[in-house]
Amino acid sequence: MSNIIAIVGRPNVGKSTLFNRLVERRDAIIDNTSGVTRDRHYGKSQWTGKFFTVIDTGGYVVGSEDNFEGEIRAQVKLAMEEADVLLFVVDVDAGLTGLDKDFANVVRQSEKPVFVVVNKADNNERRAYVGEFYEMGFKEIHPVSAISGSGTGDLLDAVVSHFPEEEEDVASDLPRICVVGRPNAGKSSFVNLLLGEERSIVTDVAGTTRDSINAHYNVFGKDFILTDTAGLRRKAKVKENIEFYSVMRAVRAIENSDVCIVMIDATRGLESQDLSIISLAQNNRKGILIMVNKWDLMEKETNTARDYEKEIKTKLGGNEYIPVLFTSVLTKQRVFKAIEIAVQVNENKNRKVPTSKLNDVLLKAIERTPPPSHRGHHIKIKYITQLPTHSPVFAFFCNHPTHIKESYTRFLINKIREHFEFEGIPLKIVYRKK
Ligand code: GDP
Ligand code: GDP
Repeated sequence: MSNIIAIVGRPNVGKSTLFNRLVERRDAIIDNTSGVTRDRHYGKSQWTGKFFTVIDTGGYVVGSEDNFEGEIRAQVKLAMEEADVLLFVVDVDAGLTGLDKDFANVVRQSEKPVFVVVNKADNNERRAYVGEFYEMGFKEIHPVSAISGSGTGDLLDAVVSHFPEEEEDVASDLPRICVVGRPNAGKSSFVNLLLGEERSIVTDVAGTTRDSINAHYNVFGKDFILTDTAGLRRKAKVKENIEFYSVMRAVRAIENSDVCIVMIDATRGLESQDLSIISLAQNNRKGILIMVNKWDLMEKETNTARDYEKEIKTKLGGNEYIPVLFTSVLTKQRVFKAIEIAVQVNENKNRKVPTSKLNDVLLKAIERTPPPSHRGHHIKIKYITQLPTHSPVFAFFCNHPTHIKESYTRFLINKIREHFEFEGIPLKIVYRKK
């Protein structure tokens, strides 16, 4: 269970600089990850052993400075609803502005802890002006310099002390599935359809977050837990057509699940918001399945589905491992299949390939296509083993772990996929010194 910290504030106060500062340590560790796009507005980190997710809401701003009443206000409200802690950033160099006060008026209504981060307090002279921000009425005021990092340690000490006590994770071997995607794709209709199936809910499992209900379903003979169904059934309170909306909503659902069903509206196609959600799922190394819903609305010719799938795979770049399914929640077309594939993807996620099999297959492939040598260094891979992680990671033992090129990692991942069933699962390779 990760806590979510949302960074809010008007443009130019240093939100993205602070974001980078807060997630840097963690990012440096995650290396050699293949097939994963790094999200500039979303990252994971930890402070004194407490893990958290940071979201830079500014990264998703569509509105402009004079549009506070519109999208920005909606965004702040959403961030308040979804996050555990808010970092409200202001700029000591610019002083307290009217727009800051607008933000403050919204943020004040939050029931979540709010930390005013007075940024750009780079030196003593600037720190002398921090006092004016007390006028907004918040208790926690923290001067920092996001650029140099000074003050951020004290800030994090205060922030993590407000994290709610870890609630116990529900111990269960059942696959946890979430349904995410842009508004109007048909997510709630899908969940309601599952609910409508006779005796679909077996028991209510206690929610691990305040407003998510994790329900144990038995539908079409499959047992699974659908996470965050409450979030789906609750009607959206904010203007819906913003990228931020679906991404923010998706963060917690994705983190609490094993497999993410990314639902898109067939009549709209795969859009940038969907790609953001998919990259969130990838970064969290979750199982993924794309459900192209409202297929009933499409004019169909002989190759419609095939062409449509091709187009999606092109947009996904190298991520062809993600299964694509054409459904209609309205006519119940292939909705059973969607659940079946989601459960299968979860099995793939738990798959452990025996070391002997792995070496048999891969060492042969490596012998046929060895890694290109690096500045005259001959690179030799000697041994491969799958690590005991919750999502598949393969360790390749070799003489020069840092000299293996990204393209060769992709080659190895493709070889693994060719021989073992990992459909829907982002794979990761690490290189270790023999
Ligand atoms: P955002 O629009 O709120 O995400 O702001 P940015 O992170 O893009 O920063 C806006 C500008 O403020 C950039 O030019 C940054 O280099 C600068 N900036 C950010 N943090 C600091 C800081 O701690 N000190 C100073 N002097 N400048 C900063
Ligand atoms: P959500 O915002 O993703 O939860 O989407 P909803 O479940 O609220 O659905 C949005 C609209 O699409 C509603 O009017 C649904 O009746 C409609 N809808 C959902 N699934 C389908 C489908 O498979 N075919 C058609 N034609 N309409 C659908």
